[in-house]
Order: sequence, then structure tokens, then C-alpha cells
Amino acid sequence: MQGAEAALRQEIVATCRRMTALGINHGTSGNVSARWRDGLLVTPSGLDYETMAPADIVFMKMDGSHEHALAPSSEWRFHRDILATRGDVNAVVHAPPTYCTALSMTGRDIPAVHYMIASAGGPTVRCAPYRTFGTEALSRQALEALEGRLACLLSNHGMIACGATLQKALWLAGELETLARQYAVALQLGTPLNVLPDEEIARVVEKFRSYGPHPKGGR
Ligand code: 13P
Repeated sequence: MQGAEAALRQEIVATCRRMTALGINHGTSGNVSARWRDGLLVTPSGLDYETMAPADIVFMKMDGSHEHALAPSSEWRFHRDILATRGDVNAVVHAPPTYCTALSMTGRDIPAVHYMIASAGGPTVRCAPYRTFGTEALSRQALEALEGRLACLLSNHGMIACGATLQKALWLAGELETLARQYAVALQLGTPLNVLPDEEIARVVEKFRSYGPHPKGGR
């Protein structure tokens, strides 16, 4: 296999390994997907990232069918459903980073306790109610929690981060875990938290649209 598909498969494997290096994931508990043609490329279930090869990545059609010898991630449903329903998303990262998962155990949404929450698209990161892993029910809850957002927590499970590219989805996963860590520490201080107003987060969402390296005086 060559060309754009080979490069995307390689990038999915690299994203998995990067999740481990960043401490977002442990073992094989995460999974990654990217839109490809009329379907998606998704990591196989339970395969060690160190030995995972680009050819191990499963191509799945949007109807959930595939011809790969390896079974796709047990979470293929929410990967497929997000990519099928969200035109703004081309890549999905799922993992159980410690702070996101700890907060998810309390079932709470993350409020706007830091302006960086705007990177997930709005003034909250919602926590989807618990459903058994790999089920359509979990996928439905995840889609709902992701409405108008690029990330959500999954109760007693972990988090999902999405993006226009794998790089952006992975970046957001890291940002979300940092935000979850900061919020968890702030909760321990026990004092009432300052929560930023929705208008402020809307302003930051807007500013983020043009944020990033650019020529001096170019914006
Ligand atoms: P897979 O190894 O099947 O991708 O699943 C792990 C997982 O994320 C379950 O929620």
C-alpha cells in the first residue's frame, strides 16, 4: 500500500504511540480513527501499539462492514458514528487519561474554569452517562455529549477528542487532560470556583479560529 492511505495509516500508528508517550493512554485501552474515502481507518482491537503496523489498521465502510483479518476497535461504533454525522471531524481519539477519567467517575461536566475549554468548542465539556463499552447506547450518549463540541468525557470510562486532523484531535486530547488535571486540583482547594461566563468563552472560541503561528502584522 502506498500514497495517501499508507501515510494516514502510519499517522494513526504514530498517534497511538504518541498517546502513550504523552501519558494519555496506558496499554491498549485507547483507539484512534480517521476518515478515509467513503469510510474510516480505525485501530484494531487490543493490539499493542509498539508492534502495531500500518497494515493492521482496519478500513471500515460507514455501514460498519470491513474485510480485515483483525477485528476493529471494540469502540468502532462511536468512531464511525462521529465521523458519519460530524462533517467538521476527520479524526477521533479515545483514551482513559487519569484526570479526565477521575472526573468522569464523579459524572460531572467540566465547567469553564479556564479559557482553554474553548478549544473543545464551548463553555462546558460534557460528561456522557455510563453505558457498556462498545455498545450503540454508548455511541448515542457520546454523540449527544459532543453536540457543538469536539470533546467529551465518558462516565466511568475516559474521554473522546475529535478534530479536523489527527494532529488536532491528539492535541485536544492533551489539552483536555491538562484542563481536567487543573480542575481536579482546584476542586481540592475547596473554595467556590470562578466560572467564566458563556460570552467570554464565545469570545475565546472566536479568537482561537485565527490563533496560531502567522507572519508579524499578518492578522
Ligand atoms: P479496543 O482495544 O477494542 O480498541 O478497546 C479498548 C477500549 O477503548 C474500550 O473502551
